[in-house]
Amino acid sequence: MRGVAELLAIDRAHAWHPYTSTLNQDPVYPVRAARGCRLELMDGRELIDGMSSWWCAIHGYNHPVLNQALRDQLEAMAHVMFGGLTHEPAVGLIERLVALTPAPLQHVFLCDSGSVSVEVAIKMALQYHQARGEPGRHRLLALRSGYHGDTFGAMSVCDPVTGMHHLFAQALPRQLFAPAPACPFGAPCRDEDIAGFADLLWEHRRELAAVILEPIVQGAGGMRFYSADYLRRVRELCDAAGVLLIADEIATGFGRSGRFFACEHAGISPDIMTLGKALTGGYLTLAATLASREVAATISSGTPGVFMHGPTFMGNPLACAVANASIDLLLARDWAGEVRDIQAGLEAGLAPCRGLTGVAEVRVLGAIGVVELERPVVMRDLQRRLVERGVWLRPFGRLLYLMPPFVIEARDLARLCAATVAVLDEWAGD
Ligand SMILES: *Cc1c(COP(=O)(O)O)cnc(C)c1O
Repeated sequence: MRGVAELLAIDRAHAWHPYTSTLNQDPVYPVRAARGCRLELMDGRELIDGMSSWWCAIHGYNHPVLNQALRDQLEAMAHVMFGGLTHEPAVGLIERLVALTPAPLQHVFLCDSGSVSVEVAIKMALQYHQARGEPGRHRLLALRSGYHGDTFGAMSVCDPVTGMHHLFAQALPRQLFAPAPACPFGAPCRDEDIAGFADLLWEHRRELAAVILEPIVQGAGGMRFYSADYLRRVRELCDAAGVLLIADEIATGFGRSGRFFACEHAGISPDIMTLGKALTGGYLTLAATLASREVAATISSGTPGVFMHGPTFMGNPLACAVANASIDLLLARDWAGEVRDIQAGLEAGLAPCRGLTGVAEVRVLGAIGVVELERPVVMRDLQRRLVERGVWLRPFGRLLYLMPPFVIEARDLARLCAATVAVLDEWAGD
């Protein structure tokens, strides 16, 4: 095997990491293996994982059941096209997703990544209104502080300030943005909390195809948790305005917020739902867009009468097989109890942050813990200090957040929190 120095030299020269410069590079840490809730670095150090590799690895790494599901599928076939062919792994996954999601969602479109599933959702909404004879409804209403992915349609509905709009302004569809929900999770939603949203929706209803939002948890756009009451009222307002509701459950799906899907906190069903991230337990890239029978039937009975999308790797059997194994594993465990324990561990472990200089707020929902700071951190410095304390977290902007695998042990969770407190205490003193 090549040495660490050589690997890093080639990485530095040629690899373009997420959201990075090729000139002013952030450090990267070479990983040799990952097991359970530990990342093993090539220099022999072990880190406790607090990120689940961006919401995905809910069962931890290198899980024997998921490994076996992949091996078994590999013996049968790695891939076949989904145009005109079908197979057990995809059909099994579609069946599971229809059973798990709210009853109106009956049609499943499999695709490659979260961003693509958002593009697919947007295209469904546009084709739906075209089929109904209202092609003028082609815009979307999104929430500020939202995040929906990095492709063009998805970017167009991300927060306009943090979401790169200024860079691509000429090329992006122009969407509408309501204020980020100000009523926190657990609080009621008063009329004034939703007035900005309601006014925009009503004023523009004849040009709006859909509202798109992340239910309850706004993820990468700010790690904010908002009132279930707000989401219920959004559903009612969309119905009254004849506008579809797209729920982006890519980050929240599969238990992360304490409910299997975050929509369940509000007891609502969207017309279209996007899933990704934890869908395969962090093994392979796969996403899904689910549509109600009404949306699917309307698109299918209009002109051209077909839904116009078809990824090359649609329904990839390896990805579907590991997704099926991951969902079965999750349902076989007391995932809700695990998430409740993590919530309690995060609340207790992060509470000392509240007393630290420079900390604006500490909030926890399900297996998500967030420390919001008063000023942005220098990521590479904070990350190095965290790594020195044996934990893997990736702060951004004014946020340091934890979303560990559901299988993390109490002791490891306590170490993650303790490292967070210690590092922020040091940082406050800088
Ligand atoms: C990560 C994310 C996406 C984009 O998914 P990718 O797989 O990175 O393309 C979209 N929406 C939400 C809510 C996400 O968290």
